[in-house]
Amino acid sequence: MKVPNVQNIYCPKCNKHTEHKLKAFKSGKARALSIGTRSNIRKHKMGYGGKAKFTATVKKQNKKPSYLAECTVCQRKVYLITPKRMKKTELTALNK
Ligand SMILES: [Zn+2]
Repeated sequence: MKVPNVQNIYCPKCNKHTEHKLKAFKSGKARALSIGTRSNIRKHKMGYGGKAKFTATVKKQNKKPSYLAECTVCQRKVYLITPKRMKKTELTALNK
């Protein structure tokens, strides 16, 4: 699916629809000492204080495409997540 590079989206700070520039969203690295990481490791520890063993999980084939939209007026960033899974997406500049 082709997704337009620039979209007219509602900006909560400007309180109106403004032009937003889209970028592909990349998740950051998980922190080693966060609650979620620690509880996940605790869950997978076996026996007497052994090393954490993570069982192989089945991964989904497609991802829900998510973007980071930046307002061109006030530079506020908004996350855009499409509710459908898609195999292939690309950001393109559409000429009006
Ligand atoms: Zn704005």
